[in-house]
Amino acid sequence: MHLWIPKATLILGIVAVVAIRAPYGRRSSQVKVIKSKRGRLEIVLLSVMWLGSVILPILWVSTPLFSFADYPLHPAQYAAGVVLFSLGLWLFHRSHVDLSTNWSVSLDIRENHALITSGVYRRLRHPMYSAILLQAVGQALVAPNGIVGSFYLCASILMFSFRMGPEEQMMLQQFGDRYAIYMTKSQRLIPGIW
Ligand code: SAH
Repeated sequence: MHLWIPKATLILGIVAVVAIRAPYGRRSSQVKVIKSKRGRLEIVLLSVMWLGSVILPILWVSTPLFSFADYPLHPAQYAAGVVLFSLGLWLFHRSHVDLSTNWSVSLDIRENHALITSGVYRRLRHPMYSAILLQAVGQALVAPNGIVGSFYLCASILMFSFRMGPEEQMMLQQFGDRYAIYMTKSQRLIPGIW
C-alpha cells in the first residue's frame, strides 16, 4: 500500500480528535477548578502523550526523519487499524458528551463537579482512556513505522497506569461512598474484564 494512504489517515485522525475535543475543552475551561492534583509527573506524561499523538505523526508525514523505520503495510493491518481507531473516536465522543463540563485534561475537580455514572460511564470508570487506548492501537496498526506506530501506545499505557490510581483516590476523596459504590459496580477499562 502506498504510504500516502496511512499518512493521510493519521492526519484525518488528528483532525477528528481535535474536532471532537475542542468544544468540550472550551466549555469546561469556563468552569472554575476548585481542587487539583496536577503534579510534575502529570506534565511529563501529558507532554509524552502529545509527542506520540501529534508531533511524531506530523514529523513522519512531513519529513523523512523517521523513514528508516518504515515497513510495508498489509491492507488487512490497515483496515483493522482504521476500525479500531474509529471505534476509539466514537467512544471518545460519547465520553465527552457524558462527562460534559466535568472533563479536564488532568486531575481536577471543578465547581459543582457532578459524579457521572451513566451512559458510557455506567460500566466503565475510564471510558475516555479506553477510547484513547483504542486510538493508540489503531495508530500502531495504521502507521507502518516502527517508531511512530508504537510510541503513542507505549505513552498511553504509561500515562494511564500512573494516572488511574491517583484519579480514583481523588474521586473517592471528593465523592466518598458514592464513588466507592460506583467502583463495585463498574470496571476500569474493559467491560466485564478489568
Ligand atoms: N478517567 C475518565 C475521565 C477522564 S478526564 C475517563 O477515562 O473517562 C479526567 C477528569 O475527569 C478528572 O479530572 C476527574 O475530575 C473527572 N472524572 C473522572 N471520572 C469521573 C466521573 N465518573 N464523573 C465525573 N467526573 C469524572
